[in-house]
Order: sequence, then C-alpha cells, then structure tokens
Amino acid sequence: MNSSSIARILAGCSWRVQRNLLRFALNGHRTVRAFEQRIREGKPFFPAFLMLSITNQCNLRCRGCWVSQTKPSSQLSLNQIQGIIDTAAKYRSYFFGILGGEPLFYPELLTIFRKNPKVYFQLYTNGTMLDEKIAGELAKLGNVTPLISIEGLETESRRRRGRDDVFARSISGLEAAVRAKLFTGVTASINMKNFDELVSRDYLDFLVSKGVHYIWYFIYRPCGPDPDCSNALDREHVLKLRRFLVEQRKTAKILILDAYWDADGHAQCPGAMGLSHHIAPNGAVEFCPILQSAGGFLNEDSSNLEEIFQKETILSNLRQFSTKQGRDCMVIRSPHELLEELKKNHAQDSSGRSAFYRELEERTPMPCHDVPGGEIPEKSAMYRFGKRNYFFGFGAYG
Ligand code: SF4
Repeated sequence: MNSSSIARILAGCSWRVQRNLLRFALNGHRTVRAFEQRIREGKPFFPAFLMLSITNQCNLRCRGCWVSQTKPSSQLSLNQIQGIIDTAAKYRSYFFGILGGEPLFYPELLTIFRKNPKVYFQLYTNGTMLDEKIAGELAKLGNVTPLISIEGLETESRRRRGRDDVFARSISGLEAAVRAKLFTGVTASINMKNFDELVSRDYLDFLVSKGVHYIWYFIYRPCGPDPDCSNALDREHVLKLRRFLVEQRKTAKILILDAYWDADGHAQCPGAMGLSHHIAPNGAVEFCPILQSAGGFLNEDSSNLEEIFQKETILSNLRQFSTKQGRDCMVIRSPHELLEELKKNHAQDSSGRSAFYRELEERTPMPCHDVPGGEIPEKSAMYRFGKRNYFFGFGAYG
C-alpha cells in the first residue's frame, strides 16, 4: 500500500464503490478483533472469514483444479447462502469470498449481493463471462470486488485452461470491470510455467495500464484428478516470489496481496489459524477449498453451521494437526499424514468424485510456501502494519 496505489483507487473507483470499500476496511478491523477476542477468551469458535463455492459449474477445465464438475451441477441454495451470511453476522463477519466453478453461472448471484448491501463480497471469476451488463449491475451495488484469475499470458493460458480465447476473454472481462469503476483485482496461482510471465514488474505495469487496482498472488497447489505436479514451484522459486513481493510492494502502483506470510516472512496457513474456512457447493464445511473432506454438511437453511464449527471436532482437530505438521501447506507437504488424520476422524470425502483420499495417497510430498531459514520480512511500513494487525498467527503457532 503506497500512496500511488491508493491514489489510483480514489481516481478509478466510483464513490459508491469507495464507500463500500471503506466500510469493508472498518468491518474487517472489527471482524479480526472479534475473532482474536474469541480465541483469547476461549469463546465458541467461528472463523473470521468464509469462502463459499456456490456452484461447481464452469466453462473451463483448468489443469490442477480441485472442482468436480457434474451434470446437473451442484450448488448451494439461496436459503443456505443467506443462512451462512446471517449466522456469520452474529460473529461480526461481513466478508465472503465467492468462488465456483465459475460463480457467474449462479442464476441468483446478483440477488445474494442485493439482499446484503452491508456485506462485502470478493467474486473469484475467470472473467470470461463478465460483460458490461454484469459489471454495470455490480457498480450499482458497490459491495462486490471482482477478482479475475489470469493464469498466464496467451500461450500459457491456453495450455493451462484448455481454451484458445481464454486470455483475451479474461482481459475483456477485466476491462469491463474497470470501465464500470469497480475495485478490480487480478489473481494467479504461480507455477513454474507462468512464473517468468506473471512474477515480473512488466506484468504489474501491464495491469496498472489496464486500470487494475490489486493483484493477489497464490502459489499453485497441484490438486484434483489432473494435478500436474511437475509444475509446482521449487524452493528457489518460492523464495524468488517472496523476494519479488517484498521489493515491488515499495514502489508498484498496484496493491500486492498474499495469504502466506506474516510481517516477518514466517509462513502461515489461514485454515490452521481458523482465520478462514470453506463451504463447498454440496454443503460440505471444509478446512479450505483444496482439502476436500467434510467437517459436516449444511442443512437446508444452514442453521447447523455453528454446530458444525463448535460441536463437531474434525475441523478443530485438523487445525491442531496442521500446526503440529509445521507452518506449511499440509495438503502439499504432508499428504500421507493428513490422510491418516482424516481416517482417524472418520472425515467424509466431499470432493464429489470420491477420489480425494486416493489422490492424497498417490501424492508425493512437496515443499510449499514455508522455507525455514528463508524468512524475508516486509520492507514496506504499510504492509508490515497490515500484516502485523490483520494477518499474524493468532496464537496458532505459539
Ligand atoms: S492447507 Fe494449504 S491450501 Fe489449505 S489453507 Fe492451509 S496453506 Fe492454504
């Protein structure tokens, strides 16, 4: 967060969008403080944030995707989604990641946003269906930030996502969002094939020239029936990525986000801290999107959500198990130990393809974002402040 990236938000986003963004920031502060207090005082558990995969329908088939696409598609009902939002409000949680599949396939998507004007939504989309009309509707509401996944420039996008025109269509979706004066973000899961293209100052400047306000870097986690493990980052590239983030945050005219490292560069797992958990299209309440094992299943109006978080033990056992394994991603770093832990808890495979446990069994353990001894602290004072106050261990790592 440097002054030029903030100035671009003030210049590029409509007043309504800015007002909602401000409310999100203030609510976010309250949410994290309330979460911290629950942990400190041993109060009933509820995560600070929830990621909702509202449908498994998608128009792409990306290599390494964990989503099982089915016919007919599986989706959360409006009743379930509203029940989740109303329950979370009791815990001062007013922010939701909206994922898929491709959430723009969800027929009542705008209804979710309209019915909850004081709630803020981050819409994870591949952008190929984000046209002027939808962008215009989102602009009228103001409480949604589109986060458009671009997994490489033209060639790599074609290779990874299995369609010729995907890069061009994602870019036109991005341009529609910027023209509608939305707070617009881009995301990518960085791997060996898109590293040089997307982890570069040229790419950041390209996004700035397109009017994008923030980029969220994820690290590729080989998942699903076609994991493409050889494409995962090695230790050297994880360090290169971390070094790039820390350096570019000082001067880049775009916000640069990650959910892996604290202010001192120590690796963290958002699920292990209980900061965020995930709800799948089939109603499974999961540790995170790629750990496809249910801590419980929602009923028709989500009135059992608190019970799943507070009475069921699978998710709390997984949080403890994860921190015992270390600071890294346990799905990638410790698949076999994780499988034993899931069996011990009689956790149900919620992948929708009854194959998650076999995939874990067949997986070769790999390093992920934790590089012990390679910690690189934040150099930007603003990012250090942000991480120190909103993304630290919450006691999960002692
Ligand atoms: S287990 Fe891995 S993918 Fe899941 S929240 Fe933790 S670090 Fe992220």
